[in-house]
Amino acid sequence: MVLVSKSLVNKMIIDTHCHLWEGELVLEDLRNYLTSMAKLLKADPKLVLDGRAERLVDEMNTAGIDKTVILALDYEFLFRGRITFQEYNDKVAEMVNQFTDRLIGFAGIDPRRGEKALEELERCTEKLGLKGVKLWPLTGFYPDEKDFYPFYKLVEEKNIPILCHTGSGPVKTYLKYCRPAHVDTIAVDFPDMKIIMAHMGDPWVREALTVAAKNPNVYTDISAWESVLRFAPLIFCQTLMEARMTCGIDKIVFGSDWPLFTPVMSLEEWVNGIKNLELPPPLQMMGMPEFSETEKEKILGKNAQKILL
Ligand SMILES: [Zn+2]
Repeated sequence: MVLVSKSLVNKMIIDTHCHLWEGELVLEDLRNYLTSMAKLLKADPKLVLDGRAERLVDEMNTAGIDKTVILALDYEFLFRGRITFQEYNDKVAEMVNQFTDRLIGFAGIDPRRGEKALEELERCTEKLGLKGVKLWPLTGFYPDEKDFYPFYKLVEEKNIPILCHTGSGPVKTYLKYCRPAHVDTIAVDFPDMKIIMAHMGDPWVREALTVAAKNPNVYTDISAWESVLRFAPLIFCQTLMEARMTCGIDKIVFGSDWPLFTPVMSLEEWVNGIKNLELPPPLQMMGMPEFSETEKEKILGKNAQKILL
């Protein structure tokens, strides 16, 4: 059953970064990685492997999240999958159709596919109703290769956003492709294309915030930062303060990377963590200003609304 959220539009909470791992969508390599991650956290692997849409919407309801972006992944250049990238996009569209008011689907398309990438983008937007594109450069490509420019031109024409992975990733993936500086190049060359960089580019956080600061069309999400808030809240607050000083809070959007971090923090705890964010004593003693309600509302949904809705 779809529950209608009672949140006011200006208090809308939007999760811009989430995955669904249902059945055949979980690759063996990914399954092993997720299982080992759960073991490390002494958590039940089911928590990270159970990525059904029903569970997601249940947890969104508990957390008060109005809308969530679910991202298809095109991993075929690196991992052998049981389904094709088109079938993955179909699955995401199916899930969105189950919960049209709550889920927003992004297509997973690797731009190395050339002409096929353009065809799939047409199909995903026109036939499947997907609203954006997820890029996963850690499978082995620099997002700013000139060969991909026809693809970005079409994305820009369609006026849909890109969510591009930046920063670290799972085992057997490549870090060197994931620097925010590569996003800078396409942001400059396609100024009307909105781009969300995932994970604040961690470990290249300052680089990510700089890219978001110099390009009006670039944002960054805080997905995967649940563990920083849980285990190092001082660093979490310092990072957001750095964002406030460089790109401004207007460029920061909420994301969870659900269900990956559910053993660390539930969606409800993650949302409440931002809502109730208070500076730890050392920062208070230094006279740093607390995050205002307006800033928290911007992070939780207002900024994403400008990109997605
Ligand atoms: Zn992700």
